[in-house]
Amino acid sequence: MSAVIIDGKAVAAAVRGEVGERVRSLTAAGVRPGLGVVLCGDDPGSATYVRNKGRVAEQLGVRFDLHTPADDSSTADLHALVEQLNRDEGIDGIIVQLPLPKQIDADVIVDAVRPDKDADGFHPFNFGRLAEGARPPVVAGTPAGCMELLRRYDVPLRGARAVVVGRSAIVGRPMALLLLNGDCTVTICHSRTVDLPAVCREADILVAAIGRPGMITADYVKPGACVIDVGITPVDGTVRGDVDRASVEPVAGWLTPVPGGVGPMTVAMLMYNTVALCAARRAGGVPASLR
Ligand code: NDP
Repeated sequence: MSAVIIDGKAVAAAVRGEVGERVRSLTAAGVRPGLGVVLCGDDPGSATYVRNKGRVAEQLGVRFDLHTPADDSSTADLHALVEQLNRDEGIDGIIVQLPLPKQIDADVIVDAVRPDKDADGFHPFNFGRLAEGARPPVVAGTPAGCMELLRRYDVPLRGARAVVVGRSAIVGRPMALLLLNGDCTVTICHSRTVDLPAVCREADILVAAIGRPGMITADYVKPGACVIDVGITPVDGTVRGDVDRASVEPVAGWLTPVPGGVGPMTVAMLMYNTVALCAARRAGGVPASLR
């Protein structure tokens, strides 16, 4: 047996196509979706991610309003900028690119974004709605993208045993909640989990969101399981996932490659969120859900 390789590039292109169509109809009705972006600091990855988001926004016809406050900005400076974007009628989604410089209290800034403009789905209101089991208007792009891959590849969720390795607020936790809301039985693992391979081997769906290249080998994988590799670690000019593809591919039922798996979904879902927020706030309704 060899795993079905989940083509994140193709699924992301399909999502972008659907979002682009929605942008065209909104724009034709006089409502052009707008995304406000705050990029502060000199994190090398952040500039690349923001450039990529800008390129996709432009392709889809979403207004991309980039703000680059000085690296030595204060929490108050960024708070004022977020408030300005909160008030801007033409801005439907706001993202604050993380990490922020260390003198800035990132929690204060994330919490300052209006929940109905929270394109990243990081605001405690939207996270809380997800934790309640309700469907929030937006979900963080990476876990939402993983769910979209599972859905489009018909991976069975109801009653499945799911194991998520990683408990961050932006990937692991929301991923676990989405799987739970999809009727999986979910276990969340982390660096203190005892006998991680044995826990992972119980999974019908195994999500690796760790940041340790190649850590998940065949020894962690139940035959036929769906393995979602969220990890992205730059290694020698390329990126590597958390999954050791060579050993896992012959064992798993489905596998997301790195690159070309989860990565392309994150930006596509960010655009989906922006347009959904635009439709909800300015055009009187959320478009047919992709989730
Ligand atoms: P964090 O560093 O915030 O979290 C990593 C998690 O992995 C933590 O919960 C940590 O446990 C756990 N962990 C670390 N080492 C081990 C170990 N040896 N055994 C078990 N668990 C371990 O990372 P993020 O959640 O932000 O990101 C995870 C990965 O996903 C990274 O590679 C990141 O680059 C990638 N990523 C990819 C995206 C995409 O678009 N594809 C988007 C966002 C992230 P503990 O809590 O105990 O420390």
